[in-house]
Amino acid sequence: MGSLHVEDLDNSSKCVENPLDPEEFRRQGHMMIDFLADYYRDIEKYPVRSQVEPGYLRKELPDSAPYNPEPIETILEDVQKQIIPGITHWQSPNYFAYFPSSGSIAGFLGEMLSTGFNVVGFNWMSSPAATELESIVMDWLGKMLKLPKSFLFSGNGGGVLQGTTCEAILCTLTAARDRTLNKIGRENICKLVVYGSDQTHCALQKAAQIAGIHPKNFRAVPTTKSDGYGLSPNALRSTILADIEAGLVPFFLCATVGTTSSTAVDPLGPLCEVANDYRIWVHVDAAYAGSACICPEFRHFIDGVENADSFSLNAHKWFFTTWCCCLWVKDPSALVKALSTNPEYLRNNATESKQVVDYKDWQIALSRRFRSMKLWLVLRSYGVANLRNFLRSHVKMAKNFEGFVALDKRFEIVVPRTFAMVCFRLLLPGSPLLMNGYQNGYQNGNGVYHKDETRANELNRRLLESINASGSAYMTHSMVGGVYMIRFAVGASLTEERHVISAWKVVQEHADAILATF
Ligand SMILES: *Cc1c(COP(=O)(O)O)cnc(C)c1O
Repeated sequence: MGSLHVEDLDNSSKCVENPLDPEEFRRQGHMMIDFLADYYRDIEKYPVRSQVEPGYLRKELPDSAPYNPEPIETILEDVQKQIIPGITHWQSPNYFAYFPSSGSIAGFLGEMLSTGFNVVGFNWMSSPAATELESIVMDWLGKMLKLPKSFLFSGNGGGVLQGTTCEAILCTLTAARDRTLNKIGRENICKLVVYGSDQTHCALQKAAQIAGIHPKNFRAVPTTKSDGYGLSPNALRSTILADIEAGLVPFFLCATVGTTSSTAVDPLGPLCEVANDYRIWVHVDAAYAGSACICPEFRHFIDGVENADSFSLNAHKWFFTTWCCCLWVKDPSALVKALSTNPEYLRNNATESKQVVDYKDWQIALSRRFRSMKLWLVLRSYGVANLRNFLRSHVKMAKNFEGFVALDKRFEIVVPRTFAMVCFRLLLPGSPLLMNGYQNGYQNGNGVYHKDETRANELNRRLLESINASGSAYMTHSMVGGVYMIRFAVGASLTEERHVISAWKVVQEHADAILATF
């Protein structure tokens, strides 16, 4: 009871003097960088998708934390032996799954600086540089994307760095909810309706759930192959009209530029026109594809954004930065009204002066990281010129892969490529009628398929598992219009043309083997 343990006495001499000793930091920090540099150098020798079984790590690690300190050397050995086998190597050049997470030296070093300063910049006063740099880089990036001035601080809007798109959507949806409820009365929350398409990321559904929108008032408007799986403005309008007819209140639309399944693009211009007729807040989710819009040849995909209310992209997907989601809003005061608090212990003169941004009021959490450091390093280290080159090289590699698929008549492209992702599948042998799944007289797009379509899906499911189990490349799948397809997403920073060529060889070899037994 409160008495000193014997071990406490024995080991007091071994304890480090200070957990932030500068010289020890230098020594261990250099070791860590060397460890990671070796990891990137040797990354191709690991299977891309981790091959471990569930629960593998519990078998390897002790039951409880060590009482005595352990040296970093030992810990790094265990990272190599015990952790790396359980890592799926997102930075591998043979990684083509989900949307890749493009790493870069600048993004990594920015993360180090941000973590090194270790400030908690909830308001301006708590670290003026963290807030001011964030506002500046968000204006820089906004200009690179040619966002209208109304989204920038130099207009009357502004940008903020969130952790993820899920948070960005939740914050904007909450702002829109309160804007509407302030007009119609809080008791009417059960009447609010949210709109997206059946291709919209589940982030929207999650945000609606958290924000208290009735589950019955969530509309995933069906898309079709003929519309390229984009949300049709006419379908949106008729859904809205039916809701108004039923006494409900439409208030939020999430339009997507580059859907997760197939990188489909919702037509922003016409959708905003419909939404503006009913005073619906439009959020543009460009989590993946937004980055590409810094290239003039891709900018047209966000034409119409000038009539939206908010716009976001994930810099950790295709912008060479570790964790961060860039969100711009036209009316920051709507965010602040919905998300601000003002406790006594945070009061300060800068806030009272109303001359500063307090980002705590633009997000869910109070505490926040110095994320702008990462973007600042990325923008400065590469410049617009190189960032465009990186993105274009990924698109070019995807285009080449698309060409390989098109040349092999056993395969088909399921959805035409827009950015750096190719959606393809292996066709059932001997059934040319199954091309596209609907030339055989059976209904498609409404959930009714020829039973051979089920077999085609099974064929591709097996093909994908066989590729991924080999460890030589990693791809993932999605389903559109009932068709199971393999998504080949180029975007890992280490990927070169030769990796794409060998990935295609891997696909062909596994297809040969599967077709021989199917
Ligand atoms: C990846 C993705 C998301 C989810 O992003 P998080 O940052 O993980 O919340 C949302 N929308 C689209 C279109 C995406 O591709």
